[in-house]
Amino acid sequence: MAGIELTGLSTVYPNGVRAVDSLDVSIKDGEFFALLGPSGCGKTTLLRTIAGLEPATSGTVSIGARDVTRVEPGQRRVAMVFQDYALFPHMSVAENIAYPLRVRRAPRPRQREVAARTAADLGLDGLLERRPGQLSGGQQQRVALARAIAVSADVLLLDEPLSNLDARLRLEARTFLKRLQRELGLTTVFVTHDQAEALALADRIAVMEAGRIRQLGSPREIFQRPGSTFVANFIGSTPMNLLPGAVRSGAVEVAGTSLTEVDLPDGTEVVVGIRPEYLTLGEEGIPGTVSIVENLGITSLVTLECADGTLIGVTVQEHAEPRIGAQVSAAPQPGRLLLYGQDGVLLG
Ligand code: ADP
Ligand code: MG
Repeated sequence: MAGIELTGLSTVYPNGVRAVDSLDVSIKDGEFFALLGPSGCGKTTLLRTIAGLEPATSGTVSIGARDVTRVEPGQRRVAMVFQDYALFPHMSVAENIAYPLRVRRAPRPRQREVAARTAADLGLDGLLERRPGQLSGGQQQRVALARAIAVSADVLLLDEPLSNLDARLRLEARTFLKRLQRELGLTTVFVTHDQAEALALADRIAVMEAGRIRQLGSPREIFQRPGSTFVANFIGSTPMNLLPGAVRSGAVEVAGTSLTEVDLPDGTEVVVGIRPEYLTLGEEGIPGTVSIVENLGITSLVTLECADGTLIGVTVQEHAEPRIGAQVSAAPQPGRLLLYGQDGVLLG
């Protein structure tokens, strides 16, 4: 078992792209750590740099107490599952799972035993003689996982392992993955562009943008107090309202309605962040006209249009939806307003 320590880590490709830019991160032993960010932000590169498949341009990677920056991938005690699974199509499930043991020249009976046991752990018994082409996406994903954990490793690196599965299977596989990680107790770095996946699975999330970590925290911290409008925009299945606000007489106003007292000079322009789930429709708050109602199942997302054109999303419970065209107001629940500066950084 081992934690992962990244110090001043940069990975620059020969074409000059700085895919990982001076990262300092400490991932704890046994932690389920998610790297979350939009496509192209450097998640795969960071994972490959930890695995040793991409050379670090500067800085260090330590696994356990060992500096592995110049250590070959095969000697790092790292297991990795690639986004496309990279299974060998001409080999059976058993041969695929046993492949890393074969490369290490483990005796045949041991290869067979480990493959059978790992397959059973992952619910693949009965499929050992099949080829990858004869498996469903979910089964292929499990074979890739089985192959990764068949050799004992200290850390497990997963690159968007659920993204090739359809929506329902993805939920099942997510629960399965969480249980497996708990059972194995393996330090796990999980790459995803899906905020819901990161929130559901991770002990901590690092939100990445352009090779850098923009925020690091528990799912709750990241959800409730996004440190910037970038993170706020990225997290939550219904997007956070980011409303233009201004300070007048010591209070923040949105669309002409005074919301909360602040210690900022009059005239300061801010961005007011409030999640649709943390607004209540009624008589109080910012007045507007109901322009759209979207059914989300147990809740609906109501869009209010204010007199100045500001649009506000409000989540309401089923059967509490207002009719289109109704005049209502949206009031923030106490303590739920976030204020961002013009540079997008959380104030206070
Ligand atoms: P993500 O996994 O978050 O989508 P990547 O790590 O794949 O991001 O890519 C990060 C950046 O590095 C992107 O700008 C991408 O175009 C670039 N990049 C990725 N792989 C290579 C490569 N082999 N050579 C040059 N640039 C690359
Ligand atoms: Mg990627």
